[in-house]
Amino acid sequence: MTGYTQDEVVGKTCSNNVLRHLDKQIESLCNGDCPLSETMELSESMGRKIRVETEAYLRHKDGHRMLVSIRAVPIRNAEGKITGAIEIFREKAHKEVVLWKMKQLEELALVDPLTRLANRRHTEANLQRRIEELNRYGWPFGVLYIDIDRFKKINDRYGHTTGDKVLKLTSLTLQNSLRPFDFLGRWGGEEFVAIVINVNEEQLLQIADRALRLLEQSDLRVEAGKIHVTVSMGATMAKPSDTLEELLERADQLMYQSKAAGRNRVSARMSA
Ligand code: GH3
Ligand code: MG
Ligand code: MG
Repeated sequence: MTGYTQDEVVGKTCSNNVLRHLDKQIESLCNGDCPLSETMELSESMGRKIRVETEAYLRHKDGHRMLVSIRAVPIRNAEGKITGAIEIFREKAHKEVVLWKMKQLEELALVDPLTRLANRRHTEANLQRRIEELNRYGWPFGVLYIDIDRFKKINDRYGHTTGDKVLKLTSLTLQNSLRPFDFLGRWGGEEFVAIVINVNEEQLLQIADRALRLLEQSDLRVEAGKIHVTVSMGATMAKPSDTLEELLERADQLMYQSKAAGRNRVSARMSA
């Protein structure tokens, strides 16, 4: 693991410091909390075996640093006296760093950085799965297409940074008004799509209405006072024959109907 052969290490002591261990703060492990002496001292004073676990960067023979997890346990002689300790090293870096990076990439691909909601791509993928489930198992769901009212005015009056805060506030209130298993994504700009599962149209409208009321009761405090924000929504149940585009198009049209009817409302049926 370290690149050293047995001959190069056996018989050396810690103070030879072949591996020049560094702790996670990049301080020399040997000058700080050495797990070997720690396990011996702790076990001695507690009168029972105390295992010490830590992480350290050791120096590979090739020169690079590698992260290892260390587990140290005391050794006792026949009389039960602690005479030494064993350290077990396990390479940590590779697998965990790769997993961590994958998680970060996944986040970049799926999460909208401003609101921390699902981004458009993630929302589309989720909708597609719901449509498949509707076709295969008959699990019903509805969609809310949500657009902030007169958002441009907020930006014009208070600036883009405040506009961003209003977007965050809106996304949080919407998210909190939905049930935990419903899905909310940022579709783009000041538009959101909610996927509301296991409901009929009446229940979908109740949930939409609750979100409207809750948003009415939210405000962003700024120097000039409070900013209130409302949204217009289109609400529609998915049909098994729907494509993703058809479903969203219908919800979007209904949202425009709410705009035309005066905003801060939800429309669920196409007016003739
Ligand atoms: P309506 O009630 O008809 O929806 O009016 P509106 O002003 O909300 O509609 P419009 O589509 O004209 O304006 C949307 C505005 O949203 C325009 C754009 O500058 C703003 N916007 C889009 N994305 C962002 C963002 O990430 N941050 C901020 N601050 N503004 C954004
Ligand atoms: Mg818009
Ligand atoms: Mg708008």
